[in-house]
Amino acid sequence: MTASPIAKRLDGVSESATLKLNALVQSMRARGEDIVNLTAGEPDFAPPEEAKAAVRKALDENKNKYTPVAGLPELRERIAKKTNAQQPSVVAQFGEWKGVDVVVSNGGKQAIYNVLMALLNPGDEVIVPSPYWLSYPEMVKLAEGKSVFVEGKAETKFKIGVEDLRRAVTKRTKVLILNSPSNPTGTTYTREEFAAIGAFLAKEAPHVWVISDEIYDRILFETSTFVSFLDAAPELRNRTVTVNGLSKSAAMTGWRIGWTVAPLELTQALLTLQGQSTSGINSLAQYAGIAALDLAEEKFAEMVSAFKRRRRMALEILAKAEKLKVVPPEGAFYVFLGIEAFVKAGEDSMQLSETLIREAKVAVVPGTPFGAPNWVRMSIATDDETLKKGCERLVEYFRSH
Ligand code: PLP
Repeated sequence: MTASPIAKRLDGVSESATLKLNALVQSMRARGEDIVNLTAGEPDFAPPEEAKAAVRKALDENKNKYTPVAGLPELRERIAKKTNAQQPSVVAQFGEWKGVDVVVSNGGKQAIYNVLMALLNPGDEVIVPSPYWLSYPEMVKLAEGKSVFVEGKAETKFKIGVEDLRRAVTKRTKVLILNSPSNPTGTTYTREEFAAIGAFLAKEAPHVWVISDEIYDRILFETSTFVSFLDAAPELRNRTVTVNGLSKSAAMTGWRIGWTVAPLELTQALLTLQGQSTSGINSLAQYAGIAALDLAEEKFAEMVSAFKRRRRMALEILAKAEKLKVVPPEGAFYVFLGIEAFVKAGEDSMQLSETLIREAKVAVVPGTPFGAPNWVRMSIATDDETLKKGCERLVEYFRSH
């Protein structure tokens, strides 16, 4: 047998876990089956008209050239402004973030990947609270780091605290990844919880950086005030990277607009990395980003209230399935469902998700690749009628098993 030509770097890095299930949904639909798809990881809303108009204008004006690697200055300034508004305590102590502190990347995904590539040496540890967004550990592997998972319990809304961190931090810990609101659980951390984590890191873990993934900042259910990690822990200003973007909050997933706001030394490294790999993102998308960032909050009110309405409806219906564990989400657009009572011995959410497609005719995402084998993730980013039908089918299945 000839040795694989593929670099060892990719050993053990997983492909998308949903590919196989999507293929099953497609083949069943092709046979005429009516499958409700509740797997969406993106808003089912159109991007703002203003963003679309900005692209048309940029196109007419031939804005087709390379842009700076970090993005157009007008875009970076708006991102700095948004960050300053979300981090007033950082501004008060350290002054404002400026455009030069921002690197615009191809989505929040590339932003996080770049940071891990720029910070990790082989073997460095990254603390990943679990359940986690499934790309974090794969990106850590690509950057030759080692994920250290800290399990959040459903009873405490999957959140981790200072004692969990104290047990997990070692000399090799380089990064802690925080994600609030969270994909997949919908958990949000309070200001006090973030402040406690910040105080611990400030005093007891001076070598640890934080990546705060704030990509779902606009989609909140129980409060309208978003808490940015650094605003609760401004003392970590010089070792925290705030990651955000327009994919989820402005319904612009395909435009690939994400960013980092980071201390200058790291920003320089991110520029070197991005400058020798992908360069600046698509110029047209950047004009769309400028337009979207200029919009008032009210422009997104319809989307946010639709998510609130659907969340309420889904929770009401799902409550009828007694043995199903439901942790009401506080943000993002997913409902995380505990399916332990329904998995057969030796199986987990991977098999149950397949069964749900075949028997309940509903597709959800298994929790296993998110670090939660006894859970599945249901998306509420679909129209009310489809969501209602999907929830009712799930309840029917769970009540009869
Ligand atoms: N972070 C989280 C928690 C996500 O759920 C996603 C997308 O699913 C991303 C980051 C990346 O989003 P994008 O690359 O589209 O900006």
